[in-house]
Amino acid sequence: MIDSTRTSRRDAQLAAVKDAGRTTVLIIGGGINGISLFRDLSLQGVDAVLVERNDFASGASAASSHMIHGGIRYLENGEFRLVRESVQERNGLLRIAPHYVKPLQTTIPIYSTFSGILAAPLRFLTHRSGKPQERGAVLIKAGLVLYDTFSRDGGSVPRHRFLGRRRSLAELPALDTDIKYTATYYDASMHDPERLALDVLQDGRSANEDSYAVNYVEAIGRRGREIVLRDRQSGDEFTVAADVVVNTSGPWTDLTNEALGTETRFMGGTKGSHIVLDHPELLAATQGREIFFEHSDGRIVLIYPLKGRVLVGTTDIDADPRQPARCTEEEIDYFFDLIHHVFPKIPVSREQIVFRFSGIRPLPRHEDTAPGFVSRDYRVELDDSGEVPLLSLVGGKWTTFRALGEALSDRVLGLLDRPRKTSTAGMPIGGGHGFPRTVRAREAWKKSNLPGAAERGDQLLVRYGTRAAEVWDFVRQGEDRPLAGGALSTRELQWMVDHELVVRLADIVLRRTSIAFVGDADGAVLEEIADALGEILGWSAEQRASELRTTIELLNDAHGLSIPLPARP
Ligand SMILES: Cc1cc2nc3c(=O)[nH]c(=O)nc-3n(C[C@H](O)[C@H](O)[C@H](O)COP(=O)(O)OP(=O)(O)OC[C@H]3O[C@@H](n4cnc5c(N)ncnc54)[C@H](O)[C@@H]3O)c2cc1C
Repeated sequence: MIDSTRTSRRDAQLAAVKDAGRTTVLIIGGGINGISLFRDLSLQGVDAVLVERNDFASGASAASSHMIHGGIRYLENGEFRLVRESVQERNGLLRIAPHYVKPLQTTIPIYSTFSGILAAPLRFLTHRSGKPQERGAVLIKAGLVLYDTFSRDGGSVPRHRFLGRRRSLAELPALDTDIKYTATYYDASMHDPERLALDVLQDGRSANEDSYAVNYVEAIGRRGREIVLRDRQSGDEFTVAADVVVNTSGPWTDLTNEALGTETRFMGGTKGSHIVLDHPELLAATQGREIFFEHSDGRIVLIYPLKGRVLVGTTDIDADPRQPARCTEEEIDYFFDLIHHVFPKIPVSREQIVFRFSGIRPLPRHEDTAPGFVSRDYRVELDDSGEVPLLSLVGGKWTTFRALGEALSDRVLGLLDRPRKTSTAGMPIGGGHGFPRTVRAREAWKKSNLPGAAERGDQLLVRYGTRAAEVWDFVRQGEDRPLAGGALSTRELQWMVDHELVVRLADIVLRRTSIAFVGDADGAVLEEIADALGEILGWSAEQRASELRTTIELLNDAHGLSIPLPARP
């Protein structure tokens, strides 16, 4: 029987933060970049408190194309520093987070030999956009040679190769027969970004018992040395004093600064959307590769197999972070055009969309630069006019989170006059520790660490990496029941509440598992998980009903589902 009377782990963390009333570094925003800073500081022995107003990794960090990539097209913007760092970080993450980051074979279909070649050098020089055009073979070849050069740090991924039309079509027969070449190279895919973020966060907590991270807590103001926080669950307001405050609110950085009484105009985010298709024919056509190309209007497009589904994205549209980002019907039409452009013989329809999502990239303010060509590099701004220094992060991709966390932490250490004790480069992340990399090693690992788990062993290993051993140990010690057709179980849910600070039903279906992403979040599944979660968290019947309704409204509105709302009690 599950004990519903005890305080949840999240509430215990919150109570500790309130009791202490102060910390060394307060981090506002629990996307991947705030989380990465939290881990780095904790590893230096610096106490930190991280507050996130929604769930961890639910902002821009939940809206990515799931790529850990060098960003070959940023070469065109002249962003060599960023591309070099990104490629190094990609190679690093393949080593330190092998449970979530996997090599991804990527193919660019090419329709012409020369196009784009004249526009590109102009962009190298001016960092401005000319009229975007589809890239020709010569330009792509030049980019890939440079890209390979940046990859020469141990050969984590194979070099690129170029094929002519005949051999390209032999490899990918569903491609448009008008193509002239294909270029194939390797980047990396991250199949569970939100879980990777949780792993980084957990590393931070384990490294320093005086560091805390709490979700559903918002920074709403500043009084001298103190930041005013609001617990969005209870509505309670309280303050925490800090020696340094770091604003890692992503696209909302200016709005957070405004709440703190500082006016800034750093940000100029752009919206990007994706759809997820349950489409076996399209999935088979990709042959396990990402198909990546630039459309005739200059925007980047990807068609990409993930979790037995096909992810298609993305768009790049100036956006107001005060408005929720949504994937519109026009964006879907655009995606369908693109699929048709590459795989003309494969029909696609709206019924095949099982999930959609949209988010705002935390890009720097850009005046006359077209959205697709705005710098993807990051910078840190210091405001030392108040009683406490306030650092704001501007930009920062998923790919570079480790290096960014270290760079940002160095700025904080400088302000605190504290030394760096260790680097996170090469340090395994969470369940990436001792992760078995071959089929044989995986079988042996499961045999010794997941006794009796049978076929569930694979699911646990994919979801938690080698942390699966602790999870399975816990699951086995009590009565366990499958949920969502076996995608989850009651004991695992309890584990998530205890160790991963679950507060809402949406935390489970959107971020702790892939239930919504693959299209399995129907009314019955949500009811079943709400029952089990309500029992663990001690929800009343009214709380359960309201939680279910809120989650369904969110899934329908933000993710394009059409789950009927339950009748009001
Ligand atoms: C469409 C799209 C595709 C992308 N694809 C890729 C990709 O394939 N690869 C890649 O490397 N990058 C990609 N990115 C970029 C990457 O996702 C983001 O740059 C990165 O996740 C930013 O993380 P962050 O922590 O800085 O911001 P966020 O993840 O947005 O985190 C900021 C957090 O601050 C919180 N917050 C805001 N205000 C407050 C407050 N007052 N109090 C407390 N909390 C607050 C928010 O709730 C939010 O969770 C993509 C982005 C988008 C939108």
